Order: sequence, then C-alpha cells, then structure tokens
Amino acid sequence: MTGGGSGIGLAITERLRADGHAVAVLDLNPPDAEYAYKADVTDRDQIEEALTSVRRDLGPVTILVNAAGLDGFKRFADLKFEAWQRVIDVNLNGVFHCTQAVLPDMVEAGWGRIVNISSSSAHSGQPFMAHYVSAKSAVNGLTKALALELGPAGITVNAVPPGFIDTPMLRKAEERGLLGGTVEDHVQRTPVRRVGRPEDLAATCSFLISEEAGYITGQIVGVNGGRNT
Ligand code: NAP
Repeated sequence: MTGGGSGIGLAITERLRADGHAVAVLDLNPPDAEYAYKADVTDRDQIEEALTSVRRDLGPVTILVNAAGLDGFKRFADLKFEAWQRVIDVNLNGVFHCTQAVLPDMVEAGWGRIVNISSSSAHSGQPFMAHYVSAKSAVNGLTKALALELGPAGITVNAVPPGFIDTPMLRKAEERGLLGGTVEDHVQRTPVRRVGRPEDLAATCSFLISEEAGYITGQIVGVNGGRNT
C-alpha cells in the first residue's frame, strides 16, 4: 500500500487489515506503527530497500494499491518544468516503480491484484492541473495496458479514480482557494449530494482485490457520487 499514511491510503489500509490482509504501508512520512516503511515512490532504491523489509516481515507481495499522490495547481503558462516533472514523477513514475518492483512476487504466485488510485480529473480535465491530470490520465492508460499484459499471469489491474474525497489533500486545496469554490459548492454539483469519504474508496478496493473480483480487469471504476465530469 503506497501513500498509506494519510487520507484515502490510510482508509484503505485500515479496511484491508479489517478484512484480514497483512498490509505494509510505504509512505514519505509513514505512521509510527507496525509494518510502515519510509520510501519515496519516485526513488527505486528506497522502494527496493523497503520491499526487502516488507518481504522479511510479511512475505511476498501479491496485492498492490498505488495511492501515493501529489497534486499541484499552476497556470500552464507559468508551470515550471521541474514542478511538472515532480508531479509526473510521484503520480505516474511512482506507479511504474512500485508495480515493477513487486511484479516478480505476483508472477511467482501466479496470482496478483493491482489497484491504481487515479483521479476523476482524468475524465473531466481540470484547469491549472495540467501536470496532475496528465499523470493521472497516464495511470489509467497504464492500467489498461498492464491488464492485457498480466491477465494471463493471473494478475488483475484496475484503476479507481476518486471524485471529491474529504482528505487532507482536498481540504488543503480548499483552504488555498484552489478548488474553484468550496467543498460544499462541489457537493451541490454532485448527484448524491455529499462529499466522498475515504471509506468509499476503501470499500471499492476491498472488492477489487478480492478473489471474487477475478473477472474484473483493465477497468476504470469511478467513485465520484455520480459526477463524471
Ligand atoms: P493525501 O491525504 O495527501 O495522501 C497522499 C499520501 O501520499 C500522503 O501520505 C503522502 O505523504 C503520500 N505521498 C506523497 N508523495 C509521496 C511520495 N513521493 N512517496 C511516497 N508517498 C508519498 O491525499 P489523498 O487525498 O488521500 O490522495 C490519495 C490518492 O487519491 C492520491 O493519489 C490522489 O492523487 C488521489 N485523489 C484524491 C482525490 C481527493 O479528492 N482527495 C481526488 C482524486 C484523486 P505526505 O503526506 O507525507 O506527503
């Protein structure tokens, strides 16, 4: 579980543990808890080092949820290439590194589940978030490509793009006036008329990694209260 120290990743971690899974958390600032490991998902050496500990403590990794993410807001004309690169690095290259690093365990087991937390902004677009939307759109594409490539190995790969989910990331953006209105304004534009909860994502992941979801792969499963655009 990457990004398991906060928000959506934290809720997924708690849910999967409640489901009976042994969950390791990789995060920039991991919680002071068992099976939490420090790693920047953009740094392959740090990932491999953390995975050595995970395999020692919990065994091979057959389920991966990529939830680590970094948003960014900048007018495209003013967007520095370094900022573009960092957002692409965390949101897209992080998924590349973590997936490639655990893949041998899944291939060896002949079974695996990968869930990538992308973003509904990949469908709708989002002004001032060109780097973030580009990265998350690529994650959806990567998901589809890997589903075809890894299906014969018994590995499913799905993406879950959240809509507006009440997490530190969302509230920080609201506080900085970057959401184009308040969270409550967005609730009024959401068919189910509430903000999403991290637990909504956790429930979806719980199902997608289950044995009974084995015929679902390459799908982009939106969790957005009905607001696709
Ligand atoms: P969050 O509360 O900020 O959690 C993101 C987590 O990822 C944090 O623990 C963060 O660590 C970690 N992280 C960031 N960069 C990392 C790196 N380089 N290496 C390792 N860990 C890193 O955000 P969230 O709202 O739960 O977001 C979870 C995922 O959902 C993200 O991929 C996000 O893009 C996506 N998403 C969220 C929403 C929403 O409405 N909340 C909507 C669409 C998509 P630090 O806190 O230590 O930086």
